[in-house]
Amino acid sequence: MSEKNRKIEYLRYLRDIGETEIPLPASARVEQTSASSSIEGNAGSEKPDAERKPNGFDLDTVEKKVKILSVIEDEVLKCKKCPLHKTRTKPVPGAGNPSAEIMFIGEAPGAEEDKQGIPFVGRAGKLLDKILAACDLTRDDVFIANILKCRPPGNRDPLPTERMACIPYLFGQIDAIKPKVICCLGRIAAQTLLQTKIPLGKLRGQVHSFRGIPLIVTYHPAAILRNENLKRPTWDDFKFLLKILEERREEE
Ligand code: URA
Ligand code: SF4
Repeated sequence: MSEKNRKIEYLRYLRDIGETEIPLPASARVEQTSASSSIEGNAGSEKPDAERKPNGFDLDTVEKKVKILSVIEDEVLKCKKCPLHKTRTKPVPGAGNPSAEIMFIGEAPGAEEDKQGIPFVGRAGKLLDKILAACDLTRDDVFIANILKCRPPGNRDPLPTERMACIPYLFGQIDAIKPKVICCLGRIAAQTLLQTKIPLGKLRGQVHSFRGIPLIVTYHPAAILRNENLKRPTWDDFKFLLKILEERREEE
């Protein structure tokens, strides 16, 4: 990609995430990003059945995934495996496309998520939606889940005991969905899934592996809300994510 196209792509992203201070060249509005290809083979794809890739879009597999995810969801909704069940309003099992190629993993529900039972619906979630839109993605293309399914009081960091109690649900979701790439949003998700104490900044920009699935790490959208200097590196991470997705599609 030329330097000019790279700049235009970045400006589009800034516009999409609500930046108003940088004027956007008119040409950028018609420019397609490299990320613009839709999720291939998605439900509603026009490919004949025989041509569908074995990535979960044939009906049998989709039905299986939906079934497993709904069993996990039912378990989460009644879960009392850790003390957070006493303070939660609604558990937040996760949401999105059972055949998602990308799975985003956050930390734990916040106040708004706890009220609604849906992940990333507060301010940070709105920013995540905008970043997804800048990548020509919607929530219906991806699956979004958290390390913890219930809100820690006052949004404190999840305790190790809570993470241990809750993580099997996430593992089950990953095993059912079998995404082509996992993206950890923030330190807690990254350090928990990679079982490391290495700081977030050092984990970015590399392809890690979780049970054979490529895993990358970026900033939590709430961190971007606190520090807008993180917008640019986050965009670099999302482009990296899409590049890895493209490579994995080509492998199949
Ligand atoms: N922050 C998270 O990590 N997850 C959510 O679902 C909402 C905010
Ligand atoms: Fe169960 Fe996880 Fe909620 Fe704890 S946080 S009660 S383990 S669903």
